[in-house]
Amino acid sequence: MPDLDLPEALELPLATGEPYWYFLGGRPSIDLVNTFRERWRRRVETLVTPGDLAAWLRRAGLLDPAATPPRGPRGHAALADARALREAVDAGVVAAVEGVAPPAAALATIDGWLAAADARPTLRPGPDGQPLLARTVPDDPVRAALAALALDAAEALGSPAARARVRICAGATCSARFYDRSPAGRRRWCSMASCGNVAKARRHRARQAPSDRGETER
Ligand SMILES: [Zn+2]
Repeated sequence: MPDLDLPEALELPLATGEPYWYFLGGRPSIDLVNTFRERWRRRVETLVTPGDLAAWLRRAGLLDPAATPPRGPRGHAALADARALREAVDAGVVAAVEGVAPPAAALATIDGWLAAADARPTLRPGPDGQPLLARTVPDDPVRAALAALALDAAEALGSPAARARVRICAGATCSARFYDRSPAGRRRWCSMASCGNVAKARRHRARQAPSDRGETER
């Protein structure tokens, strides 16, 4: 059973956040939001370096393992962009959970990425000179991945039905965001194996007392 709580002894800022990533959000843009951990307490950044961002995008299946992420200033700019997109998505998530309108700036940040979200179809001469229908290859694979994340966020936030499935875990010590894909749409925990179990154990203990008085336990 995975323990989703961060260790108490944690030297901040982290050198790398990789050991603390988890992918329970139900969609990649919400997994991205969850890279900023313990929003209720220590506010732990786990996308620490441009290398972290590239590794996270690979783990999320959004960056080809063979792709070369930008280095130097462009790498740092991409990291800043990823964090800004992440916080815009989170503002949208929090607003969706509270049933209020999100800040205009958050929407504009997400929207700003959408133009780059899809590879365009192109018709070019193939190796034999015959026309070949292909897709444009993005110049910068990290920016293409961020655009894909923005599109995913737009799909999660952009309709009443999808918004109604955006959640923040009910765990007392958990700030995980998730997208409820359960058929009934009544999921409360980021994961039954961790936060859901903690709550179940608490309810179980609460039932112990009545059972002492002779009541049967369900
Ligand atoms: Zn949780």
